Parts: sequence; C-alpha cells; structure tokens
Amino acid sequence: MKTVLAGDLGGTKCRFALVTADFGVHAVQHVPTVRNQPEFLRSMEQAIARVLAQVPAGCEPPVAMGLGTAGVIPHDGGSIDYAPNLPLDKFPLTQHLEGLFHLPTTLINDGRASAWGEYMRGNAVGRDPLLCLFFGTGIGIGLIVDGKPYGGFANAAGEIGHTTYRPNGRPCPCGRVGHFESYCGGRALTERAAEQCGVAPKGEWTVGQIVSLAAADATGSAAARTILAEAEEAAATLVTNACILLNPSAVVLGGGVLSGWPALRNRIVERVRANTAPLIHDKVLFAESLGGSDAILWGAAAATRALWP
Ligand SMILES: [Zn+2]
Repeated sequence: MKTVLAGDLGGTKCRFALVTADFGVHAVQHVPTVRNQPEFLRSMEQAIARVLAQVPAGCEPPVAMGLGTAGVIPHDGGSIDYAPNLPLDKFPLTQHLEGLFHLPTTLINDGRASAWGEYMRGNAVGRDPLLCLFFGTGIGIGLIVDGKPYGGFANAAGEIGHTTYRPNGRPCPCGRVGHFESYCGGRALTERAAEQCGVAPKGEWTVGQIVSLAAADATGSAAARTILAEAEEAAATLVTNACILLNPSAVVLGGGVLSGWPALRNRIVERVRANTAPLIHDKVLFAESLGGSDAILWGAAAATRALWP
C-alpha cells in the first residue's frame, strides 16, 4: 500500500509516522521539541530516519513528506514565516529535508491540517464549510471550504485569535494588544493565574488547576473565577463572531483549554445559539476534536496530494 511520511511539529513535542490511504498511522516516533535549531533539526532527522527504517509489511516506502506546523506558511510552502514555538523562523525547511531524504516535502499550518483531518476522517466528515477552533497555548484555526483548507491571498487567513477583543487591552504574545488570544488562549490563562492567584499547586499553573481553584473556597478563588469568566466571555464571543462571518456546516472545538475546562464547550455552544440567527445555528453541528494528533497527520499527508489527489 502507498504511504506518505507525515509529521506534526508541535510546541512541546513532534510526532512522525507513515500514513496510508486507508488512514492508517504506522511506525510512530515522538521527539521532544527543543528551542535550539541544530539540536531540533538533528532530533527531527533522526526520528524521520527511524520511521523510514520501520516500513511495515504490506506498505511501500513513502512517496512524499507532509509536515503540519504552527505558524504562517507562505504559498510556496518552503519555510515557516513565523513559528512561535519552533526554532525555524524563515529556515528553508523543505529544501533541507528534500536534500536529506529525497522526498517531495510540503508544509501546512497545523490548524489547517487538523481541520482537513477532521473533515476526511474525524468528527466532522464531509461537513463543508467546516470551522475548527483549537484553544491551546494559542488559538489555532482551520477552515475547510469546497473540501480543502482556505488560505486566503497570501496563505495567512484565519488568525482569528489575533483579532481585537479589547482595544488597548492585555498584551498578546504576538506583540500587539487586546487580542482574543490574550483573554482565552491557554498561555494567557496560566499567566494571569500566576499574576493573580498566588503560587501554583504543582509549580506551574494549568487550566485544570485554575478551574479547581475557582470551584474552591480558598485564597485566590475569586481571582480564578474572574479569569475564567473573562475567558468564557472572550471564547464565546470569538466563536459567535466566526459563525456569523462564515456560516459553517459544523464547528469542531478542541485544544488543551477545553480538555482542562470541559464545561467551557457547552457554554460556548449556548452562547452561539443565543446570539446568532436561526439560519446560522439551527443545523450547525458542534463536534469535539479527535484529540491527539492523528488529524494533523492525516491533514499533513493530504497536503502532499500523494495519497488523495
Ligand atoms: Zn495577538
């Protein structure tokens, strides 16, 4: 069976595997993401080499490589213009990997890759247009239109986390201020907890710990409740705005903020239903993301056009 080598370059770990046309994921390799570029490249290359050494019986060696990664990727797909959590800004990654592994290589934004995977095999199969929103460390988005990811004029469309929620508001990791991500992104939540809720129970704040503190009667609970109330307001506003703008057939919601705070999902759905016209919300499907990163691997494999033209 034909295969593609697919990868998910994440902010904390990278995952590589062989993907088959029947959506099988084989020979999986994980490596931690490090911030030093030579070290990062070396561990990625070693992981890819290990995948190539483990082609299972019945599978052909891969014919292409597709990598999903955070950041904006120009239309030429050769590099990552800006990679917030990877040491790869402007690095000619496809040229580098093609030189080493002799496989035509394609990069795709990870939000778009996830959305493509959810559309092909995940929890929103065939729903078009499909909107996927991932509340993780930052806010990722993928929009599928006519069966493929929508990229806009310069392949930079969709960064809804960096639209303005509060003019002159909190600083955003992107360097500007008042963006949605600085109110309902995971990093913003944990940074605010560190500022306002005292010392974290286990050294570093997580969204789950903020939720537990908000439910307790303890020092810092009132601050935790305020942080969550503001995050809920921001997240619900963001999804409502996106639904009004795009009129999706389905909305997939995922990411670490929702894993640590599952009640947020229903509150977002209630707010969308209350604040949009029936044509927008009557038949829209709200689905959970698959979780893990198989959806990213499927989407990254799809981006190569080698398995599913
Ligand atoms: Zn921003």
